[in-house]
Amino acid sequence: MSSPNKPIPLDIAIIGGGSAGMALATKLDNLSATVFEPKTAAERDCSWALWAQPQQLEEFSPAIRGSWDQWRLIDHSGEIIHQSNQYRYTSLSSGQYLQHCEAGLKDSVSLVRAPIESIVSQGSGGQFSADGQTYSAKTIYDSRPPILDDNSLRQHFVGWEISTKEPIEHADIATLMDFRVDQSRGLHFIYVLPYSDRHLLVESTMISTQLEDKDWYRKAISQWLTERNIQIQSKLREEYGVIPMVPVQPQNADIACIGAAGGAVRLSSGYGLSTIQAQMAVLAESIAAGEYRVPMPFSKRLVFMDKVFNRALNTQSDHGVELFMATAKTLNADQFARFMLGTAGLMEWAKVVLAMPKWPFIKSALKQFLSHD
Ligand SMILES: Cc1cc2nc3c(=O)[nH]c(=O)nc-3n(C[C@H](O)[C@H](O)[C@H](O)COP(=O)(O)OP(=O)(O)OC[C@H]3O[C@@H](n4cnc5c(N)ncnc54)[C@H](O)[C@@H]3O)c2cc1C
Repeated sequence: MSSPNKPIPLDIAIIGGGSAGMALATKLDNLSATVFEPKTAAERDCSWALWAQPQQLEEFSPAIRGSWDQWRLIDHSGEIIHQSNQYRYTSLSSGQYLQHCEAGLKDSVSLVRAPIESIVSQGSGGQFSADGQTYSAKTIYDSRPPILDDNSLRQHFVGWEISTKEPIEHADIATLMDFRVDQSRGLHFIYVLPYSDRHLLVESTMISTQLEDKDWYRKAISQWLTERNIQIQSKLREEYGVIPMVPVQPQNADIACIGAAGGAVRLSSGYGLSTIQAQMAVLAESIAAGEYRVPMPFSKRLVFMDKVFNRALNTQSDHGVELFMATAKTLNADQFARFMLGTAGLMEWAKVVLAMPKWPFIKSALKQFLSHD
């Protein structure tokens, strides 16, 4: 045992054992690394969803709660249903996924169940303390959640996992956005994942700069259920989340960031899991080859287009429903999945741009171009 004054030397320190930290930790081969994570996997359980391809379904299988080849978006004028051949919209228990990753860590990777504090960077590494001990790492990857500005555009939600008294309709379709709800405070939709015909996740999600009181989202969920005559048998779980939709500020700008803190959550959609998995696979491979830099999660073009999309949402929120419905209408299911994942090609982007309400989108693109941010 080292004395508290003598730092324990580490090769690689991974701060935060969430989606990015564990994806990296499980992919490192024959390299010594330590993950610092204060919370147990069960304490962080929520629903994580992504458009998964067959090999990913296999990888995530221990944690899958539900998986659908059909999804839909609904507004007052109708619904758009997508049926995909290549992707399944898949919901995971984050707690079970992280637990599975922790159990599968190789002998060369250890886990310290404590928060890190007082980090001082030094080259690509630095010193910090955790659980009363000082550590000195040659390389540090930091995935602590980024700092969010109070007035920034965010996606925020409350979700209920419920069982219902009667079977519900359309239990084979995931509802990504049902816009037939109060739009007076910003872009608002209900998200519904039917795990079975009597077991659902229902979320009230807002895209706006102001967070609402939790009861506001709860009321929206209750109202949506009542209007559809869906009666709750029991409420199993509640989750709450805030996801940034603007470029984020890491907790320490001198340390290499991964995951959401490194900008790997898509600005226009809030989806990040697929990108994080792909980015961590590339990073693990490059570390094995002696290159420790974190690869960019998205191309500059994609970040620019997302900023244009968000500027239109933020400044002309009355067009928000139209922006999302037009995107779903112009793309087929597989193109839509790629678009949401951030892997759409130029042709798919061109289709989306042409389908946008012209004036709001052009105005937003010009302003974004001139703003240089
Ligand atoms: C509630 C919620 C739901 C989301 N759902 C989806 C989804 O369905 N699909 C999708 O694609 N994206 C989703 N996202 C966006 C994104 O994919 C996730 O946030 C993803 O978990 C980001 O991974 P990460 O590793 O960067 O952060 P996290 O998974 O949040 O991991 C960060 C870790 O850092 C730890 N930590 C904090 N402080 C310290 C400290 N001082 N020392 C050490 N560790 C510390 C935390 O305990 C945490 O485990 C969601 C985000 C949120 C907030």
